[in-house]
Amino acid sequence: MKKIFFLGECMVELKAISDSTLNQSFAGDVYNSAVYLKRCFSSLECGVVSAIGTDALSIKMRQRFVEEGLATQLVFTHANKVPGIYYIETDEQGERSFTYWRHDSAARKVVDFFNPSVEEELASADMLFISGISLAVIEPASRDLFWQIVQRIKKAGVKIVFDPNYRARLWQSEQETKGQYTIAFELADICLPGIEDLTTLYELHSAQAVMDYLAQFNIAEVVVKNGPSSVFTKINGQLFEHQITPVTHVVDTTSAGDAFNGAYLGARMAGMDEHKAVQLAAKAAAVVIQQPGAITPKEHFVKAMQST
Ligand code: ADP
Repeated sequence: MKKIFFLGECMVELKAISDSTLNQSFAGDVYNSAVYLKRCFSSLECGVVSAIGTDALSIKMRQRFVEEGLATQLVFTHANKVPGIYYIETDEQGERSFTYWRHDSAARKVVDFFNPSVEEELASADMLFISGISLAVIEPASRDLFWQIVQRIKKAGVKIVFDPNYRARLWQSEQETKGQYTIAFELADICLPGIEDLTTLYELHSAQAVMDYLAQFNIAEVVVKNGPSSVFTKINGQLFEHQITPVTHVVDTTSAGDAFNGAYLGARMAGMDEHKAVQLAAKAAAVVIQQPGAITPKEHFVKAMQST
């Protein structure tokens, strides 16, 4: 069975639904992608690499991973840390604001749990997915060890997948981010950037500019996402522009890119060419942005994906 791991942080989501009521769920970029990959391709093994705590919400989070069919052998339990939390509030104009408590989360310690048998498990996968948020969350003291392990598993044949997903507030400086992103670009076999993520950091404003910038690295497969505009792929030097159908009634764009990534990677692992993979990924993202929240209810998602 083909296997992919998604490394990063899943958080507890709290959303105000009235003055006195909060709705609690789970979300985080790599987790969202893992969920959508598994929902589109149930026969692929799809696992999360992260750390949670021993608290009640951590136990629920692990249960949710299992309910979504995700492999949890690399979800570690930290004795005295808890998951990150964020709170979303929507004002009368529909504008959302986010408050985070994630600076000391269990997930920041994930590399502390790495040992030879964890590395062996990682090396047994076909792909490892890392995002810019995963890189921001890994503690600076663990970075060298982390990259050594990524290098070794790449040598063992694991394809390294990177989505830059830039969140300025998670980094000390742009220089720090760029240092980590350069290593990621150097090691990536597949890169899935959104243009916006690279605009602030590198002043790149178009798909072509992103392709030109990434040409200095040896990345076999680049997929550039740009909201409702077309998707560009460059695979082994072959550039292609894929048209997608814009959604007219967008409800919430949270996790559009995550859903795209999950469906795209699943499709590629299942042997589809990039044309089919982009169409499926764009469809998954379109379904997700017509529903509120990062994770669309499973039944609705599966039904919508089956409709033409
Ligand atoms: P991110 O969520 O990473 O910022 P984008 O906004 O570029 O990513 O969106 C990712 C994908 O979601 C796009 O490539 C596209 O397939 C889909 N998407 C986003 N916005 C729309 C839209 N308004 N209509 C149709 N598809 C969209």
